[in-house]
Formats: sequence, C-alpha cells, structure tokens
Amino acid sequence: MKVLCVLYPDPKDGMPRSYYRNSLPHMSHYPDGQTLPTPQGRDFTPGTLLGSVSGKLGLEKFLKTQGHEFIVTSDKEGPNSEFDRHLIDADVVISQPFYPGYLTAERLEKAKNLKLAITAGIGSDHVDLAAANKKGITVAEVTFCNSISVAEHAVMMMLALVRDYMTQHEIARSGGWDIADCVKDSYDIEGMDVGVLAAGRIGLAVLRRMKPFDVKLHYFDRYRLDAQTEKSLNAIYHDSIESLVSSVDVLSIHCPLTAETDGLFDKTLLAKMKKGAYIVNTARGKICNKYDIKDAIESGHLAGYAGDVWYPQPAQQDHPWRTMPKNAMTPHTSGTSLSAQARYADGVREILENFFAGNPIRNEYLIVSDGDYVGTGKHSYAKKEAVNQ
Ligand code: NDP
Repeated sequence: MKVLCVLYPDPKDGMPRSYYRNSLPHMSHYPDGQTLPTPQGRDFTPGTLLGSVSGKLGLEKFLKTQGHEFIVTSDKEGPNSEFDRHLIDADVVISQPFYPGYLTAERLEKAKNLKLAITAGIGSDHVDLAAANKKGITVAEVTFCNSISVAEHAVMMMLALVRDYMTQHEIARSGGWDIADCVKDSYDIEGMDVGVLAAGRIGLAVLRRMKPFDVKLHYFDRYRLDAQTEKSLNAIYHDSIESLVSSVDVLSIHCPLTAETDGLFDKTLLAKMKKGAYIVNTARGKICNKYDIKDAIESGHLAGYAGDVWYPQPAQQDHPWRTMPKNAMTPHTSGTSLSAQARYADGVREILENFFAGNPIRNEYLIVSDGDYVGTGKHSYAKKEAVNQ
C-alpha cells in the first residue's frame, strides 16, 4: 500500500545529534484508565524527534519491511505540492494537527484509493469528516496521547500571562535589570478566579493541575462533572458560557471547534469578560476572532492572550497574534513535546498494524468508519457539524 505522511520540517540546523535527557518516564495508563498505545514493535528511541520529516514517526523500517511505499513530506500547500501529487493514489494518509495536511472535500474527491486517514495526535478537524463519511474513509486519531501535554502547556501559559513572564524574560535576555519594568504588570495567580471552558480530558486535567495554586476554580461544560469530582476540585459549575466568562480572571479554552464554537470569542462575548482578564486558548484558533482579540488587548480590556493554535496553520507572518502586546503565543506545539511524540508514534503504529492485519482499530481511536461517526467521533463530532480547519 502507499502510505503518505505529512510532517513538519526538520530543525533548521538539522536533526539533533544528542538530547538533554536519555529517557522518558515509564507510563502504562492515562488518568482515566485507558492504556497507552500497545504496538507489537517499535523502531525508535522514545524521547527523540519523531514528528519532523526525518523522524518519520519512527515508521520507516516497519512499513518498508512489509513492502509498503512510504512517502514523507512537509510540502503540503497548493495543488502542485508533494502532498497533492501523492494523494491521488495514496491508501493511507497520516498527518499531525500541528502542521495539518488539510483533507478538504475537494482533496478527498481526488484521493481515489484513500481508505484510512490517521491523525498523529488529537483533533481531526483538518479532515472534512462529512466528506470522509460519504466516501467510506476511516478516520482515526490517537485519543489521549497528548491531552496531558496540552494541559501542562495551558497551565504554563496561565502563569506566564499573570506573572508577565514574557516581559521579564525579554529584559533578562537583553542584558537589563529593570525591575520596575519587569513587575509593573505582574501578579500572583493565588486567589484569582480561574475557569475552563469545557472540562473534558484536557479541561479536567487543567482544573486538577490548578487546584494546588489555591485559586477559585470555575467551569462550564454541556454536562456537569460528577458530584465527587466537582467536590474534590471545589469547582463552581456555570450553566452558560456567559456566566463563566464574566466570573473569571483567567480563562482557559478546551472545547472542540464545531459550528457552535467557531468564532465564539467575538467582541460581544469578550465585552462580558472582566476587565484585566486573561485568555489561554490551546483548543483551536478559530474559536477566537483574531481581530477582536487583538482589539481587546490593545484597548486594555484583556490583560493578555496566550495559546498555540492559529488559523490557518502555519499562521501568516502578519497574523495579529504574533505581535500584539501581552501575548504569550507559541506555534502549535503543546501536543508535540518529545514525550507526546513517542505516544502518538506508538499509537499510529498500533492503528497501522491493525489496519494491515484486518483487525479492528481501538474504538476510542475511531472518529469515522464505514460511513458514520463511531467511537470517539460519535461523541465528539457527530451532530455537531465539524468545522474544517
Ligand atoms: P474531550 O472530548 O475530552 O473534551 C471536550 C469537551 O468539550 C467535552 O466535555 C465536550 O462535551 C465539551 N464541549 C463540546 N462542545 C462544547 C461547547 N459548545 N461548549 C462547551 N463544552 C463543549 O477533548 P479533549 O479535552 O481531549 O480536547 C479538547 C480540544 O483540545 C480538542 O477538540 C482539540 O481541538 C484541542 N486539542 C489541542 C491540542 C493541541 O496540541 N493544542 C492537542 C489535543 C487537543 P461533550 O462531552 O458533551 O462532547
């Protein structure tokens, strides 16, 4: 079979020749009890760079010894891209949300042989799921592989914003010792009202990680957490997004991008937030209106905005979030730490092993299959009109 894989380019100076750390901590289960991926084999060293072109997700030996054709590219934009040229007769496409090979309806139409699209990570909104359903293409992702990675990034960004780490680091780097400049916008997060929009795998992990900071926790989700979890977190449940956003000093967004959440944070909703509030968005860029966020920061209504998700990706050079004041943006990196890469490389291999052997793919990895939303997809995307990023 022909396996086409879109990965981000290698580091500018080439692949690392050494790493600071020699190993990753051993883990067998995620917090909800789900097991980590269990492929039959592994041809990479965990903790090495796998998500870029030369890393090949550690799949090259496995695929080539089985006689499959394996194309890896970062050239994904435009009709003459390597991605488009190989898509025409690819059987399997693998892509990461950090550098997505967008599988639009138009591209899927051209992909006559395509049977399986694997998201090496979580979040398959770069695939037109309705079109995949129509064509009977299976879409699978590696559920939970990087949820904690994202939660850690979100917590880091909340602290960076509230303490104004960005300004202080810049002053230190540039040889300064201007303490007053460093601290004129710097606060403690202790005692603040901190909320998450959606308390799924990532949102709940963020709540759990923020509890020891002695903040007041808040959340909104379509369904309430069970009473015991809510009590253990001492978290206040809000029955609307408006109620949540008007109550918190720091808001972290963890809902999926759907028709309902596309452009949700516009000037109307932002106006309901407290003056001086901070937003962290590691969910999807399109959930926030880029110009309204910029205006809210520049007018002083918001005190800071951070996140790692943009639209489109890579973000254009003049995207306002790159340069607006008080931003702590990163490229889309939270879910692709070296730790996460090992988990999703294993997960992709597990999916491929099952697919080639004609065995079922784990239900929790499935998004669409046989023309319908199934597994995780049934819960996350069905009837929510997924929006393509
Ligand atoms: P989960 O499915 O575990 O949680 C999502 C939660 O959002 C669910 O509880 C869901 O409710 C809730 N929800 C859905 N729609 C709404 C809405 N309109 N308003 C409020 N709550 C809503 O997903 P994860 O926590 O694993 O991931 C969340 C998102 O994070 C992903 O969709 C993805 O976009 C993003 N992500 C980003 C990554 C990164 O690298 N930056 C990596 C991984 C994920 P319900 O149970 O009813 O569906």
